[in-house]
Amino acid sequence: MRLNDDVVENRRLTRWADLLPRAPRQRGGVHETDAELVDLGDGRLLALTVDTVCEEIRLGLYRHPKTAGRLAVAAALSDLAAVGAEPLGLLLSVTLPAGNADVVQEAVARGVAQAASAAGTFVLGGDTNEGDELSVGCTAAGTVPRGFELTRVGISPGDLLFSAGPLGLGAALAASTLLAGGSLLSEDDLVPPPRIAHGIALRRIASAAMDTSDGLVATLDQLSRLNGVALRLTRPPAELLHPRALQVARSLSLPPLALLAAAQGEQELVFAVPPERQPALEAAAARLSWTPVPVGRAESGSGVFVNGAPFDGARARNLLGACGRDLGAYAAALVAMTK
Ligand SMILES: [Mg+2]
Repeated sequence: MRLNDDVVENRRLTRWADLLPRAPRQRGGVHETDAELVDLGDGRLLALTVDTVCEEIRLGLYRHPKTAGRLAVAAALSDLAAVGAEPLGLLLSVTLPAGNADVVQEAVARGVAQAASAAGTFVLGGDTNEGDELSVGCTAAGTVPRGFELTRVGISPGDLLFSAGPLGLGAALAASTLLAGGSLLSEDDLVPPPRIAHGIALRRIASAAMDTSDGLVATLDQLSRLNGVALRLTRPPAELLHPRALQVARSLSLPPLALLAAAQGEQELVFAVPPERQPALEAAAARLSWTPVPVGRAESGSGVFVNGAPFDGARARNLLGACGRDLGAYAAALVAMTK
């Protein structure tokens, strides 16, 4: 998968897969699903995923333990949503700071409970440690009937691209924290809506789905590579932003595209629908009182197109590493490539 190798994170994931044995009952290839799918042999697939919030804490993007708890759960559940799975429950792996473990534990638990309750699921158990710095890992398990799973692969030229909701709030919070001392948005404003019901509704309607844990541009770039298609935004970036994210962009004079290209995503669901299945999408959306946001379309070719021009998705995705993971340098380089 040469195209995938342009992205450093993809190379890292491919290397892990090369180094480790792969389960014979696992469905799909490396990179092809947001949650790993294992055939249970009874008509169901087990969906498993794990996400850890620690770099955001170390970099100072999440300062409140409640945020770390809420976002670790939201990240894991959005992976289940992106395969169309129904949750069985969650497992936590938490390292608490040794000096302040009781207070931090309670705050993490409040965030975890908030996100789990919103999605109608529960924590089954986990593991707890003490260490230098807070780290919250969340594993989510779910099931999906075999043949009804969503994957990242299946997009054809002509398919329409949607997001389940407005975008950019994760990057806007990072921008507010980094560039405005947190004055424009509070961490409590970042509450990704659970998309489990939407993922289930999209079974056999969406040709592919993926969550925006690394932002919209990274999601489209990955889908473009995996499907061998070009993906074109058919609306200006400002129209895709959450109103509060747009406000942050305007207050800080940031290009709206910067908030879609930043590595900090919002755990929203992005999906493709063949034109002939649009009536089915409309019916499913009406049942959920939900309005999917039209984002763009797939075309023959390759790469991501924004405002009518090619946009270098690999460069955007590799930029934080290329800047030595220095957030100030990253923000400046990202603004330069998105204005
Ligand atoms: Mg994901």
